[in-house]
Amino acid sequence: MALSNIVPLLNAPRAAAAPAADMTYHGGPVIANVEIVAVYWGSFWQQQATLISQLEGYFNYIVTSSFLDMLAEYSTPTQTIGEGTFNSSVTVTTSEPGGGSGTVSDAQIQTALQQWTQDGTIPAVNANTLYFVFLPQNVTSTLNGSSSCQQYCGYHSSAGSIYYALMPYSDCSGCTQGSELDTLTVISSHELAESITDPSWPSGSGTGWFDDNTGNEIGDVCVGNTTQLGNYTIQQVWSQKQNACASAPA
Ligand SMILES: [Zn+2]
Repeated sequence: MALSNIVPLLNAPRAAAAPAADMTYHGGPVIANVEIVAVYWGSFWQQQATLISQLEGYFNYIVTSSFLDMLAEYSTPTQTIGEGTFNSSVTVTTSEPGGGSGTVSDAQIQTALQQWTQDGTIPAVNANTLYFVFLPQNVTSTLNGSSSCQQYCGYHSSAGSIYYALMPYSDCSGCTQGSELDTLTVISSHELAESITDPSWPSGSGTGWFDDNTGNEIGDVCVGNTTQLGNYTIQQVWSQKQNACASAPA
């Protein structure tokens, strides 16, 4: 079964129509009211004020959008999924991802997040926190033997109680969706929805919502189904209720 916590290459051949999916709940936590912290790692980001501010606009918009409202159908017996908030953007320039080697592993991402939450570099974690870690241009992310731009365009995971999504700077042929902003909003909408509905990836499988037949989470079924949401281009995700890829409640 393919890893379902990744956003696969967006510009690769795939079946024309999204297959029907059957999402079921597996007893673990979801994120009820997501609180997004955007972390821009590396001095590269000091020159990217415009993109950071555009992404801030996007995050502020999507957390109270129809896209979030739709995810209420993935509430659990103990948690109700509702709208969220955007907490802050933090640019970290005290170190470079992968020590400036040009490659950063998932283990290094986890170590960095644990350190930053402990030393106050980024806001402390609570049950709703979701960290989006953005990498500089020309830095490759690696995960379980796979690489960004070769096998995936982003992924989400967890490190203990820390939920995070990893966002490579995806200006490569396998991932680009036009502008870098559009590329990042398409990929991050997929990761946002999956992080909310299946945040825990303790050892290669989730504990929230996914399809037992395929391992797919709600974003995986709908890769390639982009749509306009407000001023932003996003990816639709699977609505079990509507039995379709969607970006708003029925
Ligand atoms: Zn996915």
